[in-house]
Amino acid sequence: MSTAKPLVIGNWKMNLDLVEAVHLGQQLGVLLKNHPAEHTQIVVAPPFVDIRSVVSIVASERIPLGVAAQHVNPHDNGAHTGEVSTAMLKRLGVEWVLVGHSERRALYAMDDAAVTQTLRAVVRSGLNAVLCVGEAPEIREESGEDEWVARQLRSALDGLDERFRELITIAYEPIWAIGTGLTATGEQIHDMTLHIRTVAAALGLAGVRVLYGGSVNGENATSIIAKGDVDGFLVGGASLKAESFLAIIQSCDDCYALKR
Ligand code: PEP
Repeated sequence: MSTAKPLVIGNWKMNLDLVEAVHLGQQLGVLLKNHPAEHTQIVVAPPFVDIRSVVSIVASERIPLGVAAQHVNPHDNGAHTGEVSTAMLKRLGVEWVLVGHSERRALYAMDDAAVTQTLRAVVRSGLNAVLCVGEAPEIREESGEDEWVARQLRSALDGLDERFRELITIAYEPIWAIGTGLTATGEQIHDMTLHIRTVAAALGLAGVRVLYGGSVNGENATSIIAKGDVDGFLVGGASLKAESFLAIIQSCDDCYALKR
C-alpha cells in the first residue's frame, strides 16, 4: 500500500432493485456507525435506477459513502437511446464513475478508444474516474499481461491534461479473477501494481491510487492488501452483503493504520 488513503468501491453490477439497494445502504450505515472506518474512503456503485435513492439515504442518514455510476455515455446529450450523461450523474450527486470495466469491454463492445473517450468525458465534467484494466486468462498464460495492461493504460491516459490527473484511480482486475473465486496471488498483484505505477508515472500520474479487484472477500482482503501493495479494492460479489463488505473495509483500515 502506498501512503495514499485506502479506497474501497463496491460494484453492485446489475443486482439489487430500489428497495434492496436502499436496505443495503442503510445496513452499511448502521455497521459503519458501530465500526467506523477512520482512514478508508468508501464508495458504492449501484445500478442507475437506484442511484437517486442511495444518494438520498446517504445524505439524510449521514452515511460515510460516496456514490459511483458503473458506466456513462461520453456524449453530452442527444440521440443515444438508453444512455446516461455525466451531467445527469452530477445532478444526482454522483461523484465517481467506473470506466472500462471488463464486463463493459467484453459484453458491450467497449474498445480502448471508447474507454479513452469516456474517461476524458468523466474527468472533464469533474467526476472521479476509476479506470479498470486487466488481462484475460489466455493473455496471462502467454505472460503477456504487462504489455496488455500497459497498452490499456497508455491508450486511456496518454496526453491527459494534467489538471485532470488527480481525478484518476486505476483498478487492476484480471478478468480470470472476476467473479470466479480465483484470486490473483499476492505476488502477482504486487508485480502488476508496481508495473502499473511505473507506466502511470511515465504518463505523468506518479502516486496514482491503484486498487485490486477479483474475488476479494472478507477472508482474503488482509493478505492481499499486505502482500499486494494496493491502495484498496474494487469489489463485486462481496459488496452485496453489508457484513462481508465491512470486513474488507476494515482490513484496509487496519492495514493503513499499521503502516502509517
Ligand atoms: C468486479 O466486477 O469488479 C469484481 C471485482 O467482481 P468480484 O469481486 O465479484 O470478482
